[in-house]
Parts: sequence; C-alpha cells; structure tokens
Amino acid sequence: MIIQPKVKGFICTTAHPDGCAEYVKRQIETTKACGPMNGPKKVLVIGSSTGYGLASRITVSFGCGADTLGIMFEKPATARRTATPGFYNTQAFEKAAAAEGLYAKTINGDAFSEEIKAQTIETIKKDLGQIDCIIYSLAAPRRTAPDGITYTSALKTTQGSFTEKSWVLKDNTIETATIGPATEEEITGTRKVMGGEDWILWIRALYEAGVVAEHALTIAYSYIGPQLTYPVYHEGTIGLAKKHLYDSCTALNQEFADKGLTARISVNKALVTQASSAIPIVPLYFALLYRVMKDHGLHEGCIEQMNRLFKDKLPAKDAALDEEGQIRLDDWEMKPEIQEEVMKRWEKVNSSNLLELADVEGYWEDFYHMFGFHFDNVDYDRDIDLEAQ
Ligand code: NAD
Repeated sequence: MIIQPKVKGFICTTAHPDGCAEYVKRQIETTKACGPMNGPKKVLVIGSSTGYGLASRITVSFGCGADTLGIMFEKPATARRTATPGFYNTQAFEKAAAAEGLYAKTINGDAFSEEIKAQTIETIKKDLGQIDCIIYSLAAPRRTAPDGITYTSALKTTQGSFTEKSWVLKDNTIETATIGPATEEEITGTRKVMGGEDWILWIRALYEAGVVAEHALTIAYSYIGPQLTYPVYHEGTIGLAKKHLYDSCTALNQEFADKGLTARISVNKALVTQASSAIPIVPLYFALLYRVMKDHGLHEGCIEQMNRLFKDKLPAKDAALDEEGQIRLDDWEMKPEIQEEVMKRWEKVNSSNLLELADVEGYWEDFYHMFGFHFDNVDYDRDIDLEAQ
C-alpha cells in the first residue's frame, strides 16, 4: 500500500511507519546534540508514544542513558488500516534504544486500568527491580475509573459562553467560534480524566509493590497560557482538571515525604500534538505564537522542551520553581515581548492576512510530522505491506 495522509478536521487517520521512524530519529539526534545529561536511570513513562511523553522518553534514554518502560494506548496496523502514529513511533524508538544497549519495553493498554498497573509492576519487578522516575503524560478523551464509571472529558468553559476568533483549518479563513459552558457532569468528567486522581493511584500502587527507589522523582505536565485563552483553557474544564493535578502533586509530596519522593508539575509550552489540536480557538493562538517565537529565535518543539527540562530545569531544583512550586517551561512563551506581539497580531488577524501574520505552514508541518508525513528524506512512494510492519 502507498500510504498517504488522510486529514479529517484536526486528525489524520493514517500514519506512515518510515516517516514516524524519521520523526523519532530527529528527536534522538536533537537530544544527543545536547550532550550527556545527569538524570534518572530507570524510568516509567505513562503516555510514552507521542507528544510530550515520547519526547520525555527519548530525552531520558538518549540524554541520561536511562532504561525505560513505556505505557501507551495505540492501535497496530490491520490489512487495510495503518497503525496509529504512536505505535510506529514506539517501534522505531525501541529499535534505536536497543541498538545502544538501552532497555526499552512498552505495554500497550489502558493505563487507567488496574490490569495495566499490575502488569507494569510485574514487568518492573522482573526487569528493572526499582524505578527512580515516573513521568505521567496521559492525554485521553475518557477514563473508566475504579468505581466502574466511564468519565468523558470536555473542552468547555465554566463561566458562560466564550466567543473569539478561530481559524478554520480546512480553508485558512478566520471566523468567530463560540464555546459553550460545561455542565457539572462535564466538569467532573474532565477532572476525573485529566486531573490527578489516576496519577496518585499509580504512585500508590508502585510504592505498595516496593518498586520505587528512595528519592524518586515523579512529574506531570500542565499548561496555563495567556489571558486570551483563559476562558477555554486555564479557567475552563481542562484548567480545573489541571488545578486538580496541581493539588494532587502537593498531596503526593506530603504522602510520600518519608520516602523522599519529589513530585513536580512542569508547565509546558503550547505545541501542536494530537491532544492540543482538538481544542477550539487555541490553534490560531498556536500559529501566531509559532510565528512570533520563530522570529525571536525562541521556538521549541516537544523535544527541545523536554531536553531543557532534563538538562537545565530539573538539575536547578528549587531555583527553577515559580512561587507556586511549578517548573515553568513556558517561560519563553510567556515572555512579555512574545505575548505583546502575539496579542497585537491577534487583534489584526483576518482571513486575508492570516498567512502573513501566523505560521500556518509551520503549524501544518508539525501536524503532518506527527503522523510521519511531509519529511523531505522519506520515500512516500514505497509500497508498504501494512501487516509486515
Ligand atoms: P498526546 O496526545 O501527544 O499524548 C498522549 C499519550 O497518552 C500517548 O502516548 C497515548 O498513547 C497515551 N494515552 C492516552 N490514553 C491512554 C490510556 N487510556 N492508556 C494508556 N495510554 C494512553 O498528548 P500531549 O499533548 O503530549 O499531552 C501530554 C500531557 O502534556 C497532557 O497532560 C497535556 O495536558 C500536557 N501538555 C500539553 C501541551 C500541548 O500544547 N500539547 C502543553 C502543555 C502541557
């Protein structure tokens, strides 16, 4: 089969195995170019196959020389459908890690379930003994919790409707979009899926099984962003869930203080990932931000962010924390000169000047790369046997 991108709205329903391998290879090269990093040596990455989790896994492996166990929820190929990009990314990652003598196994299943937690613990006991770092990087639409209820997350406001400019991805026009307020059920659902409850369950299960080393680190990722997107992000359903994640971080530090655990939230930069491109209004902010940050020489992708986390921010310990105790990898995004310029452009942007004011091309390049497309050195005419991959 000749694999081509099939884009539907903010998702691409195909992925290219060679392109995904190239995507991973480039991230490994970027990491190696940073030189060796002092960091964890045995790492569990929950949500390891795409976006920030994949970049974290690559960083600890090829920067810190860590053995990694990954958890992901991805689909393998069938006779007629390609695998999901995370599946191909992980195949490529495992191969590259093995070539350098690094342990890299991945469990494909529902991280929210007790079965996958138990399987993970068995694997750690058998292969790694104890782990010294747990990265929690899940972004999921739903979660079946231990109470048996399946909760669904929503991207809505919590205080009335919000109307703002929005980029219509299919024809590069600007229109206004309105996001309505969430119901109580949607607020609860989002908190259950994207809050910190499951993070706490993971850490407890790992400690109870005795598979966490003394003075371990656990880290989860958050986002704040500019005032402009507060109604849909920071003060929206997802923002309330992130507040719960933050409170869970505080709770973990207290509960496991005697074990020397350090729990951290890293507030990362806005980037095109499978999870983030689904949020309305936000892609226009991303495209404007990309343009301004590139013009200032400050643009970073997931891998540059994670390299900076492990190379600079984590070794700096308390010195890298804001007054709320969070790591701020969004420091460059939030620089006043960047935000002022983005907001100026936001005011001006319309259907006729979008391509000039925003980095539409850069947005789409990131988007296609996520699915393994649009790499200039990949042969997209190659006939691929889907099931042999
Ligand atoms: P992503 O969609 O690229 O990655 C999600 C990962 O979770 C994948 O590895 C996927 O396989 C895994 N996953 C999803 N459901 C699962 C399940 N039930 N069981 C096992 N694995 C499952 O998302 P991302 O953008 O990298 O987000 C990761 C974290 O980073 C989230 O907490 C997100 O809020 C945060 N973050 C994202 C941005 C951004 O702009 N993208 C910015 C700051 C923080």
